[in-house]
Amino acid sequence: MERANGHDRLAAAASQEALRALPSVERLATRAELAHLPPEARVRAARRVVEEARQALRSGAPVAPTPESLAGRALALADDALRPALRRIVNATGVLLHTNLGRATLAPSAARAVAAVAAGHANLEVDEETGGRGSRQAHVARLLCELTGAEDALVVNNNAAATFLPIAALAAGREVVLSRGQLVEIGGQFRLPDVIRSAGAILVEVGTTNRTRIGDYEAALTERTAMLLRVHPSNYRIVGFSEEAPLADLVRLGGEAGVCVADDIGSGALVDLAPFGLVDEPTANGSIAGGADLVWFSGDKLLGGPQAGILIGKARYIAPMKKHPLMRAIRPDKLTLAGLEATLRLYHAGRAWSEVPILRRIARPADDVREAAERVAASLRGEQASLRVEVVATDSEVGGGSLPGHRLPSWAVAVSDSGRGAGELGRRLRAAPTPVYGRIEKDRLLLDLRAVDADEEAWIPAAFTS
Ligand SMILES: *Cc1c(COP(=O)(O)O)cnc(C)c1O
Repeated sequence: MERANGHDRLAAAASQEALRALPSVERLATRAELAHLPPEARVRAARRVVEEARQALRSGAPVAPTPESLAGRALALADDALRPALRRIVNATGVLLHTNLGRATLAPSAARAVAAVAAGHANLEVDEETGGRGSRQAHVARLLCELTGAEDALVVNNNAAATFLPIAALAAGREVVLSRGQLVEIGGQFRLPDVIRSAGAILVEVGTTNRTRIGDYEAALTERTAMLLRVHPSNYRIVGFSEEAPLADLVRLGGEAGVCVADDIGSGALVDLAPFGLVDEPTANGSIAGGADLVWFSGDKLLGGPQAGILIGKARYIAPMKKHPLMRAIRPDKLTLAGLEATLRLYHAGRAWSEVPILRRIARPADDVREAAERVAASLRGEQASLRVEVVATDSEVGGGSLPGHRLPSWAVAVSDSGRGAGELGRRLRAAPTPVYGRIEKDRLLLDLRAVDADEEAWIPAAFTS
Protein backbone atom coordinates (compact mmCIF):
# COMPACT_ATOMS: atom_id res chain seq x y z
CA MET A 1 0.00 0.00 0.00
CA GLU A 2 2.72 2.38 1.18
CA ARG A 3 4.88 1.48 -1.84
CA ALA A 4 2.03 1.96 -4.26
CA ASN A 5 1.24 5.38 -2.84
CA GLY A 6 4.85 6.41 -3.10
CA HIS A 7 4.90 5.23 -6.70
CA ASP A 8 1.70 7.15 -7.48
CA ARG A 9 3.14 10.32 -5.96
CA LEU A 10 6.25 10.01 -8.09
CA ALA A 11 4.18 9.47 -11.22
CA ALA A 12 2.00 12.46 -10.38
CA ALA A 13 5.03 14.67 -9.92
CA ALA A 14 6.49 13.49 -13.25
CA SER A 15 3.26 14.18 -15.03
CA GLN A 16 3.01 17.65 -13.43
CA GLU A 17 6.44 18.36 -14.79
CA ALA A 18 5.53 17.02 -18.23
CA LEU A 19 2.38 19.17 -18.24
CA ARG A 20 4.45 22.26 -17.45
CA ALA A 21 6.82 21.33 -20.28
CA LEU A 22 4.03 21.45 -22.89
CA PRO A 23 4.19 24.56 -25.10
CA SER A 24 1.37 27.07 -24.75
CA VAL A 25 -1.29 27.24 -27.49
CA GLU A 26 0.17 30.57 -28.52
CA ARG A 27 3.74 29.19 -28.80
CA LEU A 28 2.60 26.20 -30.82
CA ALA A 29 0.39 28.29 -33.11
CA THR A 30 3.26 30.60 -34.04
CA ARG A 31 5.69 27.85 -35.06
CA ALA A 32 7.14 28.06 -38.56
CA GLU A 33 5.56 24.74 -39.68
CA LEU A 34 2.10 26.29 -39.35
CA ALA A 35 2.94 29.71 -40.78
CA HIS A 36 1.17 29.08 -44.12
CA LEU A 37 -2.21 28.42 -42.45
CA PRO A 38 -4.89 31.05 -41.81
CA PRO A 39 -4.52 32.41 -38.22
CA GLU A 40 -7.84 30.96 -36.98
CA ALA A 41 -6.99 27.50 -38.35
CA ARG A 42 -3.55 27.67 -36.69
CA VAL A 43 -4.94 28.56 -33.27
CA ARG A 44 -7.80 26.08 -33.49
CA ALA A 45 -5.46 23.19 -34.36
CA ALA A 46 -2.89 24.22 -31.71
CA ARG A 47 -5.58 24.38 -29.06
CA ARG A 48 -6.82 20.90 -29.89
CA VAL A 49 -3.34 19.40 -29.95
CA VAL A 50 -2.28 20.92 -26.63
CA GLU A 51 -5.55 19.81 -25.04
CA GLU A 52 -5.06 16.27 -26.40
CA ALA A 53 -1.54 16.15 -24.97
CA ARG A 54 -2.74 17.38 -21.56
CA GLN A 55 -5.44 14.73 -21.47
CA ALA A 56 -2.92 12.04 -22.40
CA LEU A 57 -0.52 13.10 -19.64
CA ARG A 58 -3.28 13.27 -17.04
CA SER A 59 -4.42 9.78 -17.92
CA GLY A 60 -0.93 8.39 -17.44
CA ALA A 61 1.14 8.98 -20.59
CA PRO A 62 4.77 8.81 -19.39
CA VAL A 63 6.37 11.69 -21.32
CA ALA A 64 5.31 14.91 -23.06
CA PRO A 65 5.47 14.86 -26.88
CA THR A 66 8.17 16.98 -28.49
CA PRO A 67 7.19 20.42 -29.86
CA GLU A 68 8.01 19.12 -33.34
CA SER A 69 5.61 16.21 -33.07
CA LEU A 70 2.93 18.54 -31.65
CA ALA A 71 3.40 20.87 -34.61
CA GLY A 72 3.19 17.92 -37.02
CA ARG A 73 -0.05 16.76 -35.44
CA ALA A 74 -1.47 20.31 -35.54
CA LEU A 75 -0.58 20.58 -39.22
CA ALA A 76 -2.36 17.30 -39.99
CA LEU A 77 -5.45 18.43 -38.05
CA ALA A 78 -5.54 21.81 -39.77
CA ASP A 79 -5.12 20.28 -43.24
CA ASP A 80 -7.91 17.88 -42.47
CA ALA A 81 -10.20 20.63 -41.22
CA LEU A 82 -9.60 22.69 -44.38
CA ARG A 83 -10.49 19.82 -46.72
CA PRO A 84 -14.16 19.73 -47.67
CA ALA A 85 -15.96 16.91 -45.89
CA LEU A 86 -17.95 16.00 -49.01
CA ARG A 87 -15.49 15.19 -51.75
CA ARG A 88 -15.37 13.84 -55.26
CA ILE A 89 -14.07 10.27 -55.31
CA VAL A 90 -13.20 7.59 -57.86
CA ASN A 91 -15.70 4.72 -57.82
CA ALA A 92 -13.71 1.56 -58.54
CA THR A 93 -16.04 -0.66 -56.50
CA GLY A 94 -17.65 -2.19 -59.58
CA VAL A 95 -21.10 -1.07 -58.36
CA LEU A 96 -22.18 1.41 -61.02
CA LEU A 97 -24.97 3.06 -59.00
CA HIS A 98 -23.68 3.02 -55.44
CA THR A 99 -26.09 4.79 -53.06
CA ASN A 100 -23.31 5.47 -50.54
CA LEU A 101 -21.17 6.98 -53.30
CA GLY A 102 -23.86 9.27 -54.69
CA ARG A 103 -25.46 6.99 -57.33
CA ALA A 104 -25.50 8.38 -60.89
CA THR A 105 -22.92 10.86 -62.12
CA LEU A 106 -24.20 13.62 -64.38
CA ALA A 107 -23.44 14.01 -68.07
CA PRO A 108 -21.10 16.96 -68.73
CA SER A 109 -23.94 19.03 -70.20
CA ALA A 110 -26.07 18.38 -67.10
CA ALA A 111 -23.21 19.26 -64.74
CA ARG A 112 -22.71 22.52 -66.69
CA ALA A 113 -26.40 23.32 -66.46
CA VAL A 114 -26.31 22.85 -62.67
CA ALA A 115 -23.19 25.00 -62.32
CA ALA A 116 -24.71 27.80 -64.40
CA VAL A 117 -27.84 28.21 -62.28
CA ALA A 118 -25.92 27.57 -59.06
CA ALA A 119 -23.66 30.56 -59.63
CA GLY A 120 -26.40 32.88 -60.81
CA HIS A 121 -30.07 33.68 -60.52
CA ALA A 122 -32.52 31.66 -62.58
CA ASN A 123 -35.95 32.06 -64.16
CA LEU A 124 -37.13 29.32 -61.81
CA GLU A 125 -40.73 30.41 -61.36
CA VAL A 126 -41.23 33.11 -63.94
CA ASP A 127 -43.61 33.24 -66.87
CA GLU A 128 -41.40 34.78 -69.55
CA GLU A 129 -44.40 36.21 -71.44
CA THR A 130 -45.94 38.13 -68.57
CA GLY A 131 -42.99 38.42 -66.19
CA GLY A 132 -45.36 37.15 -63.50
CA ARG A 133 -45.19 33.94 -61.56
CA GLY A 134 -44.79 30.69 -63.51
CA SER A 135 -44.28 27.05 -62.67
CA ARG A 136 -40.87 25.66 -61.71
CA GLN A 137 -42.00 22.29 -63.02
CA ALA A 138 -43.17 23.32 -66.48
CA HIS A 139 -39.88 22.81 -68.37
CA VAL A 140 -39.18 19.31 -67.15
CA ALA A 141 -42.83 18.24 -67.15
CA ARG A 142 -43.09 18.92 -70.88
CA LEU A 143 -39.96 16.88 -71.61
CA LEU A 144 -41.09 14.03 -69.37
CA CYS A 145 -44.46 13.87 -71.12
CA GLU A 146 -42.88 13.83 -74.57
CA LEU A 147 -40.41 11.12 -73.57
CA THR A 148 -42.87 8.83 -71.81
CA GLY A 149 -46.23 9.53 -73.43
CA ALA A 150 -47.69 10.56 -70.06
CA GLU A 151 -50.35 13.28 -69.76
CA ASP A 152 -48.63 15.14 -66.94
CA ALA A 153 -45.57 14.93 -64.72
CA LEU A 154 -44.35 16.15 -61.36
CA VAL A 155 -40.84 16.18 -59.89
CA VAL A 156 -40.12 15.85 -56.16
CA ASN A 157 -37.01 15.49 -54.04
CA ASN A 158 -36.50 11.72 -54.38
CA ASN A 159 -38.40 8.54 -55.10
CA ALA A 160 -39.19 8.04 -51.42
CA ALA A 161 -41.09 11.35 -51.60
CA ALA A 162 -42.63 10.24 -54.90
CA THR A 163 -43.99 7.18 -53.09
CA PHE A 164 -45.30 9.11 -50.11
CA LEU A 165 -47.02 11.97 -51.95
CA PRO A 166 -49.52 10.03 -54.10
CA ILE A 167 -50.56 7.86 -51.16
CA ALA A 168 -51.07 10.94 -48.97
CA ALA A 169 -52.85 12.92 -51.71
CA LEU A 170 -54.97 10.16 -53.26
CA ALA A 171 -55.45 7.47 -50.63
CA ALA A 172 -55.45 9.05 -47.15
CA GLY A 173 -58.13 7.45 -44.99
CA ARG A 174 -58.75 4.83 -47.69
CA GLU A 175 -57.21 1.53 -48.75
CA VAL A 176 -54.10 0.73 -50.77
CA VAL A 177 -53.94 -2.83 -52.09
CA LEU A 178 -50.46 -4.34 -52.39
CA SER A 179 -49.16 -7.86 -53.03
CA ARG A 180 -47.34 -9.56 -50.13
CA GLY A 181 -44.51 -10.27 -52.57
CA GLN A 182 -43.99 -6.51 -52.94
CA LEU A 183 -44.01 -5.42 -49.28
CA VAL A 184 -40.39 -4.41 -49.55
CA GLU A 185 -37.89 -2.43 -47.55
CA ILE A 186 -36.01 -0.20 -49.97
CA GLY A 187 -33.29 0.63 -47.46
CA GLY A 188 -32.80 2.36 -44.15
CA GLN A 189 -36.17 2.84 -42.53
CA PHE A 190 -38.07 3.00 -45.81
CA ARG A 191 -40.48 0.07 -45.60
CA LEU A 192 -43.64 0.11 -47.67
CA PRO A 193 -46.09 -0.89 -44.93
CA ASP A 194 -44.75 1.95 -42.75
CA VAL A 195 -44.82 4.45 -45.63
CA ILE A 196 -48.44 3.62 -46.44
CA ARG A 197 -49.45 3.90 -42.78
CA SER A 198 -47.61 7.15 -42.18
CA ALA A 199 -49.11 8.65 -45.34
CA GLY A 200 -52.48 8.08 -43.67
CA ALA A 201 -53.74 5.17 -45.78
CA ILE A 202 -54.72 1.62 -44.86
CA LEU A 203 -52.62 -1.18 -46.29
CA VAL A 204 -54.53 -4.18 -47.61
CA GLU A 205 -52.14 -7.06 -48.22
CA VAL A 206 -53.10 -9.62 -50.84
CA GLY A 207 -51.68 -12.95 -52.06
CA THR A 208 -48.63 -14.60 -50.56
CA THR A 209 -44.91 -13.93 -50.45
CA ASN A 210 -44.27 -15.92 -53.62
CA ARG A 211 -47.61 -15.94 -55.50
CA THR A 212 -50.23 -13.29 -56.02
CA ARG A 213 -52.91 -13.47 -58.71
CA ILE A 214 -55.32 -10.91 -60.10
CA GLY A 215 -58.16 -12.70 -58.30
CA ASP A 216 -56.52 -11.76 -55.00
CA TYR A 217 -56.79 -8.07 -55.88
CA GLU A 218 -60.33 -8.51 -57.13
CA ALA A 219 -61.41 -10.10 -53.84
CA ALA A 220 -59.85 -7.21 -51.88
CA LEU A 221 -61.72 -4.42 -53.70
CA THR A 222 -64.17 -2.49 -51.54
CA GLU A 223 -65.75 0.96 -51.76
CA ARG A 224 -62.82 2.14 -49.61
CA THR A 225 -60.15 1.07 -52.15
CA ALA A 226 -58.23 4.09 -53.43
CA MET A 227 -55.25 2.49 -55.14
CA LEU A 228 -53.91 -0.76 -56.58
CA LEU A 229 -50.20 -0.36 -56.02
CA ARG A 230 -47.46 -2.31 -57.74
CA VAL A 231 -43.89 -1.97 -56.44
CA HIS A 232 -40.87 -3.18 -58.34
CA PRO A 233 -38.97 -5.26 -55.76
CA SER A 234 -35.78 -3.65 -56.99
CA ASN A 235 -33.31 -4.95 -54.49
CA TYR A 236 -34.27 -8.60 -54.29
CA ARG A 237 -35.71 -11.29 -56.46
CA ILE A 238 -38.01 -14.21 -55.80
CA VAL A 239 -37.10 -17.11 -58.04
CA GLY A 240 -38.73 -20.49 -58.51
CA PHE A 241 -42.40 -21.03 -57.77
CA SER A 242 -43.49 -17.42 -57.99
CA GLU A 243 -46.08 -15.28 -59.71
CA GLU A 244 -47.29 -11.68 -59.69
CA ALA A 245 -50.34 -10.28 -61.46
CA PRO A 246 -49.34 -8.65 -64.79
CA LEU A 247 -49.80 -4.88 -65.09
CA ALA A 248 -52.36 -5.38 -67.89
CA ASP A 249 -54.65 -7.30 -65.50
CA LEU A 250 -54.31 -4.65 -62.79
CA VAL A 251 -55.10 -1.94 -65.34
CA ARG A 252 -58.24 -3.77 -66.49
CA LEU A 253 -59.39 -4.33 -62.90
CA GLY A 254 -58.62 -0.77 -61.82
CA GLY A 255 -60.39 0.60 -64.90
CA GLU A 256 -63.54 -1.43 -64.18
CA ALA A 257 -63.56 -0.37 -60.51
CA GLY A 258 -62.53 3.25 -61.12
CA VAL A 259 -59.49 2.82 -58.87
CA CYS A 260 -56.05 4.33 -59.49
CA VAL A 261 -53.43 1.82 -60.68
CA ALA A 262 -50.01 2.99 -59.51
CA ASP A 263 -46.63 1.56 -60.46
CA ASP A 264 -43.44 2.26 -58.47
CA ILE A 265 -40.84 1.10 -60.98
CA GLY A 266 -37.92 2.22 -58.81
CA SER A 267 -34.99 2.59 -61.16
CA GLY A 268 -36.69 4.60 -63.86
CA ALA A 269 -35.14 3.35 -67.06
CA LEU A 270 -36.30 5.38 -70.05
CA VAL A 271 -34.64 3.02 -72.52
CA ASP A 272 -34.75 -0.74 -72.96
CA LEU A 273 -31.71 -2.36 -71.35
CA ALA A 274 -32.46 -5.86 -72.66
CA PRO A 275 -29.68 -5.69 -75.32
CA PHE A 276 -27.25 -5.73 -72.39
CA GLY A 277 -28.89 -8.72 -70.79
CA LEU A 278 -30.82 -6.60 -68.28
CA VAL A 279 -34.15 -8.12 -69.20
CA ASP A 280 -36.32 -7.65 -66.10
CA GLU A 281 -36.08 -3.89 -65.80
CA PRO A 282 -39.37 -2.06 -66.44
CA THR A 283 -39.26 1.21 -68.37
CA ALA A 284 -41.28 4.32 -67.54
CA ASN A 285 -42.70 4.56 -71.07
CA GLY A 286 -43.53 0.83 -71.02
CA SER A 287 -45.53 1.25 -67.85
CA ILE A 288 -47.45 4.25 -69.24
CA ALA A 289 -48.08 2.40 -72.52
CA GLY A 290 -49.25 -0.55 -70.42
CA GLY A 291 -51.99 1.65 -69.00
CA ALA A 292 -50.77 2.52 -65.48
CA ASP A 293 -52.51 5.64 -64.14
CA LEU A 294 -49.46 6.78 -62.18
CA VAL A 295 -45.82 5.74 -62.43
CA TRP A 296 -42.95 6.88 -60.23
CA PHE A 297 -39.20 6.35 -60.15
CA SER A 298 -35.83 7.79 -59.08
CA GLY A 299 -33.99 10.41 -61.09
CA ASP A 300 -30.52 9.22 -60.07
CA LYS A 301 -30.67 5.52 -60.84
CA LEU A 302 -30.97 4.22 -64.41
CA LEU A 303 -32.19 7.57 -65.72
CA GLY A 304 -28.75 8.97 -64.89
CA GLY A 305 -29.80 12.37 -63.57
CA PRO A 306 -29.67 14.16 -60.21
CA GLN A 307 -31.41 12.90 -57.08
CA ALA A 308 -35.11 13.33 -57.74
CA GLY A 309 -38.40 11.49 -57.64
CA ILE A 310 -40.40 11.60 -60.84
CA LEU A 311 -44.15 11.08 -61.02
CA ILE A 312 -45.84 10.69 -64.41
CA GLY A 313 -49.34 9.71 -65.44
CA LYS A 314 -52.94 10.86 -65.80
CA ALA A 315 -53.49 14.58 -65.23
CA ARG A 316 -56.47 13.92 -62.95
CA TYR A 317 -54.25 12.05 -60.50
CA ILE A 318 -51.30 14.45 -60.73
CA ALA A 319 -53.45 17.55 -60.11
CA PRO A 320 -54.32 16.84 -56.43
CA MET A 321 -50.65 16.18 -55.70
CA LYS A 322 -49.62 19.60 -57.01
CA LYS A 323 -51.98 21.20 -54.51
CA HIS A 324 -51.16 18.97 -51.54
CA PRO A 325 -49.43 20.76 -48.60
CA LEU A 326 -46.67 18.14 -48.64
CA MET A 327 -45.66 19.24 -52.14
CA ARG A 328 -43.97 22.38 -50.85
CA ALA A 329 -41.92 20.32 -48.40
CA ILE A 330 -40.58 17.96 -51.04
CA ARG A 331 -40.29 20.17 -54.11
CA PRO A 332 -37.04 20.15 -56.09
CA ASP A 333 -34.67 23.12 -56.12
CA LYS A 334 -33.23 24.88 -59.17
CA LEU A 335 -30.06 22.73 -59.15
CA THR A 336 -32.05 19.51 -59.38
CA LEU A 337 -34.34 20.88 -62.07
CA ALA A 338 -31.42 22.18 -64.15
CA GLY A 339 -29.59 18.82 -63.96
CA LEU A 340 -32.73 16.85 -64.71
CA GLU A 341 -33.77 19.00 -67.65
CA ALA A 342 -30.32 18.75 -69.25
CA THR A 343 -30.31 14.98 -68.75
CA LEU A 344 -33.78 14.59 -70.27
CA ARG A 345 -32.69 16.71 -73.24
CA LEU A 346 -30.01 14.12 -74.02
CA TYR A 347 -32.73 11.45 -74.26
CA HIS A 348 -34.84 13.80 -76.34
CA ALA A 349 -31.95 14.43 -78.74
CA GLY A 350 -31.16 10.69 -79.04
CA ARG A 351 -27.79 11.22 -77.36
CA ALA A 352 -28.45 9.34 -74.12
CA TRP A 353 -26.47 6.18 -74.97
CA SER A 354 -23.35 8.14 -75.78
CA GLU A 355 -23.57 10.85 -73.11
CA VAL A 356 -25.50 9.71 -70.03
CA PRO A 357 -22.76 8.13 -67.88
CA ILE A 358 -24.77 5.24 -66.42
CA LEU A 359 -25.89 4.11 -69.89
CA ARG A 360 -22.35 4.43 -71.27
CA ARG A 361 -21.05 2.34 -68.37
CA ILE A 362 -23.67 -0.38 -68.89
CA ALA A 363 -22.99 -0.44 -72.64
CA ARG A 364 -19.19 -0.25 -72.33
CA PRO A 365 -17.62 -3.33 -73.96
CA ALA A 366 -15.63 -5.53 -71.56
CA ASP A 367 -12.56 -5.24 -73.84
CA ASP A 368 -12.57 -1.49 -73.39
CA VAL A 369 -12.63 -1.94 -69.59
CA ARG A 370 -9.77 -4.43 -69.92
CA GLU A 371 -7.63 -1.92 -71.79
CA ALA A 372 -8.27 0.65 -69.05
CA ALA A 373 -7.26 -1.90 -66.41
CA GLU A 374 -4.05 -2.64 -68.36
CA ARG A 375 -3.22 1.07 -68.51
CA VAL A 376 -3.75 1.57 -64.78
CA ALA A 377 -1.82 -1.62 -63.94
CA ALA A 378 1.13 -0.49 -66.08
CA SER A 379 1.39 2.84 -64.29
CA LEU A 380 1.06 1.14 -60.88
CA ARG A 381 3.77 -1.42 -61.61
CA GLY A 382 6.34 1.33 -61.93
CA GLU A 383 5.31 2.89 -58.61
CA GLN A 384 6.09 0.76 -55.62
CA ALA A 385 8.19 -2.36 -55.36
CA SER A 386 6.11 -3.91 -52.58
CA LEU A 387 2.90 -3.86 -54.68
CA ARG A 388 1.74 -6.94 -56.53
CA VAL A 389 -0.40 -5.84 -59.45
CA GLU A 390 -2.50 -8.07 -61.69
CA VAL A 391 -5.28 -7.52 -64.21
CA VAL A 392 -8.18 -9.87 -63.48
CA ALA A 393 -11.60 -10.64 -64.98
CA THR A 394 -14.47 -9.79 -62.64
CA ASP A 395 -18.14 -8.78 -62.65
CA SER A 396 -19.65 -5.34 -62.09
CA GLU A 397 -23.21 -4.83 -60.96
CA VAL A 398 -25.66 -2.04 -61.68
CA GLY A 399 -26.51 -1.47 -58.01
CA GLY A 400 -28.77 1.16 -56.50
CA GLY A 401 -31.38 -1.53 -56.06
CA SER A 402 -31.52 -2.07 -59.82
CA LEU A 403 -31.34 -5.49 -61.36
CA PRO A 404 -30.27 -7.56 -58.36
CA GLY A 405 -28.06 -10.49 -59.17
CA HIS A 406 -27.40 -9.28 -62.69
CA ARG A 407 -23.71 -9.12 -63.50
CA LEU A 408 -21.86 -7.22 -66.18
CA PRO A 409 -18.56 -8.80 -67.27
CA SER A 410 -15.74 -6.45 -66.28
CA TRP A 411 -12.01 -6.15 -65.54
CA ALA A 412 -10.18 -4.98 -62.47
CA VAL A 413 -6.69 -4.24 -61.25
CA ALA A 414 -6.04 -6.55 -58.28
CA VAL A 415 -3.49 -5.09 -55.87
CA SER A 416 -1.85 -6.65 -52.86
CA ASP A 417 1.04 -5.40 -50.79
CA SER A 418 3.65 -7.56 -49.11
CA GLY A 419 3.78 -5.18 -46.15
CA ARG A 420 0.09 -4.38 -45.68
CA GLY A 421 -3.25 -6.13 -45.72
CA ALA A 422 -5.91 -5.28 -48.29
CA GLY A 423 -7.98 -3.50 -45.63
CA GLU A 424 -5.15 -1.12 -44.84
CA LEU A 425 -4.45 -0.55 -48.52
CA GLY A 426 -8.13 0.32 -49.00
CA ARG A 427 -8.07 2.72 -46.07
CA ARG A 428 -5.03 4.46 -47.47
CA LEU A 429 -6.67 4.97 -50.88
CA ARG A 430 -9.81 6.35 -49.23
CA ALA A 431 -7.66 8.93 -47.43
CA ALA A 432 -5.94 10.16 -50.63
CA PRO A 433 -6.53 13.77 -51.81
CA THR A 434 -8.82 12.32 -54.49
CA PRO A 435 -10.01 9.18 -52.71
CA VAL A 436 -10.31 5.89 -54.58
CA TYR A 437 -12.87 3.31 -53.46
CA GLY A 438 -12.33 -0.32 -54.41
CA ARG A 439 -13.54 -3.61 -52.98
CA ILE A 440 -11.75 -6.39 -51.16
CA GLU A 441 -11.78 -9.92 -52.51
CA LYS A 442 -9.58 -12.73 -51.17
CA ASP A 443 -7.35 -10.27 -49.33
CA ARG A 444 -6.65 -8.29 -52.48
CA LEU A 445 -7.90 -4.83 -53.28
CA LEU A 446 -9.87 -4.96 -56.53
CA LEU A 447 -10.19 -1.77 -58.55
CA ASP A 448 -12.93 -2.36 -61.14
CA LEU A 449 -12.57 0.05 -64.07
CA ARG A 450 -16.10 -0.15 -65.54
CA ALA A 451 -17.33 2.96 -63.68
CA VAL A 452 -14.01 4.83 -63.90
CA ASP A 453 -13.89 7.33 -66.77
CA ALA A 454 -10.70 7.75 -68.82
CA ASP A 455 -10.05 11.17 -67.30
CA GLU A 456 -10.24 9.68 -63.78
CA GLU A 457 -7.73 6.86 -64.34
CA ALA A 458 -4.67 8.92 -63.34
CA TRP A 459 -6.14 9.44 -59.87
CA ILE A 460 -5.62 5.76 -59.09
CA PRO A 461 -1.79 5.69 -59.20
CA ALA A 462 -1.81 9.15 -57.61
CA ALA A 463 -3.73 7.77 -54.61
CA PHE A 464 -1.06 5.08 -54.09
CA THR A 465 1.72 7.64 -53.86
CA SER A 466 -0.04 10.20 -51.65
C1 LIG B 1 -34.81 3.24 -55.00
C2 LIG B 1 -36.25 2.98 -54.82
C3 LIG B 1 -37.03 3.82 -54.00
C4 LIG B 1 -36.44 4.97 -53.24
O1 LIG B 1 -35.88 5.90 -54.08
P1 LIG B 1 -34.93 7.08 -53.55
O2 LIG B 1 -34.60 7.79 -54.81
O3 LIG B 1 -33.79 6.40 -52.88
O4 LIG B 1 -35.72 7.89 -52.61
C5 LIG B 1 -38.39 3.55 -53.89
N1 LIG B 1 -38.96 2.50 -54.52
C6 LIG B 1 -38.23 1.66 -55.30
C7 LIG B 1 -38.91 0.52 -55.97
C8 LIG B 1 -36.86 1.88 -55.48
O5 LIG B 1 -36.13 1.05 -56.24
